[in-house]
Amino acid sequence: MSEWDYIIVGGGSAGSVMANRLSARSGNRVLLIEAGPDMPHGEIPPEISSSYPGVAYFDPRFHWTELKVTTQPKRHNDPSYAPPRRSYEQARIMGGGSSINGQLFNRGAPTDFDGWRDLGVAGWGWDDVLPYFKKAERDLDFPESDWHGDEGRILVRRLFEEQWTGHTHAARKALEAAGYDYIEDQNGAFRDGFFPLTISNAFDRRVSAAVGYLDPPTRRRPNLTIMAETRVSEILFNGLKATGVRIQPKAGGAQDLQAAREVVVCSGALHSPAHLLRAGIGPAGHLKALGIEVRHALAGVGQNLQDHPSVSASAYLPAEHRLMRDDVRHMHLGWRFSSNLHEAPAGDMFAAQITKSAWHDLGKRLGSFLVWVNRTYSTGEVKLATKDWRDEPAVDFGLCSDRRDVDRLADGFRRTAAIMMSDAMRHVAKDPFPTAYTEQVRSIAKVTTRNKAITWLLGKAMDGPEAVRRMLIEKVITGGVSMRDLLEDAEALDTFVLANATGTWHASCTCRMGGDDDPMAVTDNQGRVRGVSGLRVVDASIFPTVPCANTNGPTIMSAEKIADRIVAA
Ligand SMILES: Cc1cc2nc3c(=O)[nH]c(=O)nc-3n(C[C@H](O)[C@H](O)[C@H](O)COP(=O)(O)OP(=O)(O)OC[C@H]3O[C@@H](n4cnc5c(N)ncnc54)[C@H](O)[C@@H]3O)c2cc1C
Repeated sequence: MSEWDYIIVGGGSAGSVMANRLSARSGNRVLLIEAGPDMPHGEIPPEISSSYPGVAYFDPRFHWTELKVTTQPKRHNDPSYAPPRRSYEQARIMGGGSSINGQLFNRGAPTDFDGWRDLGVAGWGWDDVLPYFKKAERDLDFPESDWHGDEGRILVRRLFEEQWTGHTHAARKALEAAGYDYIEDQNGAFRDGFFPLTISNAFDRRVSAAVGYLDPPTRRRPNLTIMAETRVSEILFNGLKATGVRIQPKAGGAQDLQAAREVVVCSGALHSPAHLLRAGIGPAGHLKALGIEVRHALAGVGQNLQDHPSVSASAYLPAEHRLMRDDVRHMHLGWRFSSNLHEAPAGDMFAAQITKSAWHDLGKRLGSFLVWVNRTYSTGEVKLATKDWRDEPAVDFGLCSDRRDVDRLADGFRRTAAIMMSDAMRHVAKDPFPTAYTEQVRSIAKVTTRNKAITWLLGKAMDGPEAVRRMLIEKVITGGVSMRDLLEDAEALDTFVLANATGTWHASCTCRMGGDDDPMAVTDNQGRVRGVSGLRVVDASIFPTVPCANTNGPTIMSAEKIADRIVAA
């Protein structure tokens, strides 16, 4: 077949849903193109299918390895300051982020989606999106509940207390002593408290969007073609109508493929706006500066980039409180709380309790809390670095560029520290210290013989005398920044937050949906790109604001919702 009705660009969380739902109509000829490798059922390697995701997070075989971003905000009083460039993992594999992510599967606050509706995105209020969250999932724990679906393609579950470690039990006691309620179902009524994290995982295996939506019967549909390891370099146009794509297969030269109805861009929040910009759709000044002819000026393309800024703290776990096996879940509890700062909505903050901080011998000895601002105000941008399709875009997250995010992250760090240093936790998780996903931490988290050897030595030293452990933490791990320094000095804590806040891989909002009168809207409420025809974006980039959630669930929900409208038309 050389012509399709729909060409889907990117087989990630959203692309997998779109491929399934659009090809469910036998009259639709659907082509799904993914740059990364495909791993059909039966061929999924253990590092992807494992319940422990910390290996897949940093495995370069499944990433866009050339991508570098800046996360820190610019300094208004120092224009010469350039934030450091850092790694930011984005998936390049069938299933996209859902194939390498932490498997947390949640929805966000009802007020997030009512906020989308109030921004002019008709039909996306909480009552409108809830049916699609339910449609996407099959909840193995609460199949009868009004909050849940029992027929969806993403199987979800939780780990209840009989599967927790000593670290998790201590965290529960500490959170209860601090006055937080235990909530059985994170995805039930949205309120403050702590809960067993809902995960997209069944039978101790990851359930990615590829596992759920590109299952063997779907792959056997004669009207669905899947091309893996094939990169789309260009969206083809006839005037203002998208007509197809140019592909760059791994072997062989470029080819042009025609889409009779639509090109559906599902390349994720960093790569989808780059496709539009290269096609001449975006801020006119930026396009002209790169020598790209403006096809349609759309100021919002690549703007409004959001993520959840986070910092963390870790502590040494004696052997009896660690995880006993390598391939089991390491994150058990989530904790939602309200900062009550800057008139932020309730439940604006989130923390995850982690019993194993990395796969290696050092990480196995460290229990952590990762805390993040779940309702952020800071925004950044995606621009093209060059007009060459081979080059990664220039990505500037500007995390914590809004003062309200700095204040709330600092407050979240203090609250987390109080839990870690409480009577219930201090004997279980010892010598707490501030941590961050620095380049050094990322580099040592790659599975190599060298990293195994280094972390084995560090692990042994951590198990040694207290004085050695403390020296190691101070001299090697934190570079001398202690919990006490940060808790006793508000300025030092601000500096720590500004220098160390990283995203939580929830890049979103760069082709945001919006109403007809919204000059920064890139897409309408069905993901259709404004000002052109035959072109849609469906992925995390269409969110108007990042919800108070990990973004896989909301991305899959959005794809389900838009696909439903397309096939109903
Ligand atoms: C390490 C990590 C951990 C995370 N943890 C969690 C978590 O625990 N819970 C959660 O809810 N969310 C988590 N997320 C975020 C979540 O997985 C993403 O928000 C979600 O997968 C985004 O889906 P998407 O469809 O927008 O993009 P993606 O899933 O990233 O899909 C985009 C796809 O397009 C492909 N592509 C890009 N450009 C091209 C091109 N030119 N040609 C062909 N194909 C192309 C990519 O290779 C990719 O497969 C995590 C993400 C990462 C990276």
